Amino acid sequence: MLLAYEPAKRLVRLRLNIEASMIGVRLMYEVLDEPHPPSETLGTGRLEHISSGVVFRDVGFHYRRDVPVLRGLNMEVPKHAKIALVGPSGGGKSTILSLVQRFYDVSEGAILIDGRDIRELSVRDLRAQIAFVSQDTYLFGGTLRDNIRVGRMDASDDEVERAARDAFAHEFIMELDHGYDTNVGENGVQLSGGQRQRVAIARALLKAAPILLLDEATSALDSETEAKVQAAFDRLMKGRTTIVIAHRLSTIVNADRIFVISAGTVLEEGSHRQLLARNGLYARLHNHQFAAQDDDSGSAFVSEER
Ligand code: ADP
Ligand code: MG
Repeated sequence: MLLAYEPAKRLVRLRLNIEASMIGVRLMYEVLDEPHPPSETLGTGRLEHISSGVVFRDVGFHYRRDVPVLRGLNMEVPKHAKIALVGPSGGGKSTILSLVQRFYDVSEGAILIDGRDIRELSVRDLRAQIAFVSQDTYLFGGTLRDNIRVGRMDASDDEVERAARDAFAHEFIMELDHGYDTNVGENGVQLSGGQRQRVAIARALLKAAPILLLDEATSALDSETEAKVQAAFDRLMKGRTTIVIAHRLSTIVNADRIFVISAGTVLEEGSHRQLLARNGLYARLHNHQFAAQDDDSGSAFVSEER
């Protein structure tokens, strides 16, 4: 009895120490005025499959206490819908995607998935449900095959190749001297922006997560690459709940709903047509960018810089 009891008591003490040090860490961030990084030990709710969308309820956020970045942000992303975020640079769009993944915790309000506050969920479970394709894809030193496989570590070579085909990456990979075994990253073959993006799309296809977060690249691709990347994105978005930070008109007009994010809040929302008719910031950004172009040219929807 005693023997069994002692280790248990030690375990309890250890747990208390961990919790105490977590509080210490939190206090330290408070003193430093830094945003709270989420604690992986809190939030243990399991999230195995998702039956509804993502809701932002009165979300406020600051990186530094006296500089609010998001305030009173309300958005609803229905299951399987494709939502586009547009707006001036610095408005808070990338921050929104960081918060969904819990790289930071909201300062006010809540983000809900299936009606559950994401802070109550295990971070591991939450992130397993999300695929994120960022503006600039990081390739680590290793083969292309390994770089794609990070989407799902137990994927077979066949699955990796299928994902690459679906992402329109297979073709350029086969043109490299060593195909999927080509070394990339810092000491390997340098890939172009459009190629790196297709590697990222292949990763995301392999992960097959129900929620997709995309930060479209602002830099222009040549039109052939652009068409391939767009087709790959279209494939990736099918049947998933998608939030995309959109810079291309083709992405924007195909969205179910567009949110114009400015100064950390939703300034306007609606379909492309509704927002044009409103004649507000969206219409201004749109006319500024696309006045001289065909409606579906798909070139960069560059944010209004200040
Ligand atoms: P957007 O994606 O719309 O251009 P961001 O979400 O990147 O906007 O940035 C919103 C605001 O938050 C900007 O003022 C930016 O300078 C600030 N910001 C972004 N990331 C950080 C960070 N890690 N620390 C402090 N401030 C940040
Ligand atoms: Mg951004």
